[in-house]
Amino acid sequence: MTLETLREVLGRAEEGAYAVGAFNVSSLDQAVAVLDAAETERSPVIVQAIAGMSAYSDESRWWHRLRALCEEYAQVAVALHLDHGRTYDDCARAIDHGFTSVMIDASRAADSDAPAAFLDNVELTGRVTTLARPAGVSVEGELGTIGGAEAGVTGILEEIVFADPDQAVEFVDATGVDALAIAVGTSHGSVKFTDEAGGQRLRLALIAEIRERLPDTFLVLHGSSSVPADAVTAINLHGGQVRPSYGISPGQKSEGIAAGIRKINQGTDSHLAWSAALRTFLDENAAVVEPSEQLAPAIAAFRGMVAQRMREFGSAGRF
Ligand SMILES: [Zn+2]
Repeated sequence: MTLETLREVLGRAEEGAYAVGAFNVSSLDQAVAVLDAAETERSPVIVQAIAGMSAYSDESRWWHRLRALCEEYAQVAVALHLDHGRTYDDCARAIDHGFTSVMIDASRAADSDAPAAFLDNVELTGRVTTLARPAGVSVEGELGTIGGAEAGVTGILEEIVFADPDQAVEFVDATGVDALAIAVGTSHGSVKFTDEAGGQRLRLALIAEIRERLPDTFLVLHGSSSVPADAVTAINLHGGQVRPSYGISPGQKSEGIAAGIRKINQGTDSHLAWSAALRTFLDENAAVVEPSEQLAPAIAAFRGMVAQRMREFGSAGRF
């Protein structure tokens, strides 16, 4: 089946008042886990990759194979999305490789990670939209800076520069993006908030206000993994060293969806599930060197976490 654009996938989510999970993959095993979950849960899905981040040395071949794999799942509505493109070239390469959606994250300066000037963000995002539009590719932009790993910090709420509704309207008018990542209290990475309340502080009124003023733009939640404590515990029990922290609670995400969020990025949770399963297996089966035996539990854990999020976001059972 021809892959769908982000606008097509999220258009149906808008009609059905649910959100579609966007799951980061960096190997074909992980992509299979995500697509198998989508097929089993009968859920639309956004498969996303980050430029420069994969298990392979040849990104061109990786992206080509990822696209071909997505096409194999004929019954599943799949959008193939570039997550956090930092440059015009990242987005151009993804479009060349058949991605149906690209994010240009020009909210930060490419060289320093400092918050970019608003007009610089508009200029680069607008150039990507001009490139993507004739190719039939959707574009996601970002406004405000979402804290955490993205900014190289540990995700303290005070480091988040919240999205401004007036700027959001101006930004969409000027750039024509299809989807907008807004900083509304989430944080990137596997280490998020040091207290449980951190994950309960989504600015729901801000989401609702931006949505009301931008009814044709799909709002995206980044940095919104829940950081399951059992996965962190398993990792650390088997030789890992992940600092325990609190993520965004599933309940908060549901409230975010009710307020108008239509795409939820879930990178970390499935990565934690993968790491926990892999470390546990290797630790408990020290004599096993057969890769298929090592990887199977990790793939299953990844798939299970993705399926759980699909049910929580209301995207399961949609076809
Ligand atoms: Zn992000």
